[in-house]
Amino acid sequence: MRRRPRKGRTVLLCPQCGSSKIALVAGSIVGQVYHCQKCDYVGSLVFETEVPDEGGTLPPG
Ligand SMILES: [Zn+2]
Repeated sequence: MRRRPRKGRTVLLCPQCGSSKIALVAGSIVGQVYHCQKCDYVGSLVFETEVPDEGGTLPPG
């Protein structure tokens, strides 16, 4: 996977429900562990997507 220096930010998406309410729980031996606050998914596999930071008004939370 390539990483291009672009203006924007990477958001994490739950592979199970597609929610972006993903929080990093802790680092473990196998890597980072994430927790989805929506469907309670816990695992190290999450989707990454890049959204442009255009300075628009984003809804809180
Ligand atoms: Zn989820």
